[in-house]
Parts: sequence; structure tokens; C-alpha cells
Amino acid sequence: MSDRAGLDRRDFLRAAAGGGFALGGLLGLGLDLRAAQRAAARSRFANTREVPSVCPYCAVGCGQLVAVRDDKIVNIEGNPDSPVNRGTLCPKGAATYQLAVNPHRVTQVWYRAPGKTEWDKSKPLGWAMREIALRVKKTRDATFQEKTDKDHLGRPLTDAKGKPVTKTVNHTLAIASLGGATMDNEWNYVQAKLMRALGVVAIENQARI
Ligand code: SF4
Repeated sequence: MSDRAGLDRRDFLRAAAGGGFALGGLLGLGLDLRAAQRAAARSRFANTREVPSVCPYCAVGCGQLVAVRDDKIVNIEGNPDSPVNRGTLCPKGAATYQLAVNPHRVTQVWYRAPGKTEWDKSKPLGWAMREIALRVKKTRDATFQEKTDKDHLGRPLTDAKGKPVTKTVNHTLAIASLGGATMDNEWNYVQAKLMRALGVVAIENQARI
């Protein structure tokens, strides 16, 4: 890319960073800084495809634009077309790129068997998903209650006159669901539906605390 003063983008950035010219000096050369800045911004995302998305961090649901080049994410920023945030992001949302592109990101299943102190990192994701489903079903089958005559502390349930009563509950108290901040609205909606359908009553999300 060349600008009208004959400097290529690399020369411009080097000069702007103090490598020989002050910005005023660039102006003195007749360089249109605003045009150069626009061109630099465009070239940063040259040959990219922008995918509208939603910030994964909280229920505000700010719109984001994910720039993708060669099937790799190269940038994530606020979507100016979103009526929620109009291009802005809070510091957490602005760091979403680092959530997706990060050498420290955990990309494999970590499993610590009961009684073990070491993590087993050899399990495939399919194994983990199936294991979770099997354990949820097994626990629910073993603990599901249609009716109860006791409260959550094990005390007998009574009516206003002290007479023992039995109530329909259709629940299990043996499973809990704790969501995380990276669960978006849609995931939380489906998660809550699934948990309530299973009869889980202990449903919480860390992002709400
Ligand atoms: S974490 Fe920040 S950027 Fe993301 S949705 Fe919430 S307020 Fe918006």
C-alpha cells in the first residue's frame, strides 16, 4: 500500500512511532494523516471477513465483529450496528480476542477421577460429554422425588394447623448447575430449560453473583 507522499505503510508507522519524523513533520511532508490512518486501519483487516457475533461474557449481550482471515480470528471489536453497544465494549469484552486466541487456552478435557490428585488430559471431548450425560441420568434416576413430606432440612412438612402434609415436588436435590460468565443468553436459556425439565432446583450462575 502506498500513500500519496510516497511512503509505504511500514514507513509511515515507523515514522509515526518516532523513528525519524514527528507527526508534525509528516504533516510538513504533505502527508494526510487522517487518510493514512484510515488506510492503515483498512489494511489491518485486508482480506478478512467480518462475522457479527455477541460478546460471550455477560447478559448485556454487546454486539461484536469478529474479523477472520484464512479461517483464523485476527480481531474482535464492538459492532457499531448493534443497538445494544453501538460499537463500544467494556474492558472485559474488549479482551475477547484473547479468550479465543491464546496459547494458554485449555483445549482438551481435564478429568480428575474420584480420589485422584492428578489430572488425566487424555480423554476426548466425546467421552466427557457422554460421561456427564450418563452421570446426570444415573443420579437423577436414583434421587428423583415426585412427592415429599419433609422440608429441605429434613423436618416434617405441616400445614398451618400443624397437620402433616405431603407435597408434590418433582425434583432432585442431588444435582446442581453453576453457570459461568462465558455462557451467553441463549446458552443460559437452554441450560435453565434443561435443568428445570430434569427437576434440578439448585441453579445458579457465577456472573450473577
Ligand atoms: S462483558 Fe462488557 S462487552 Fe461483554 S456483553 Fe458485558 S458489558 Fe458488553
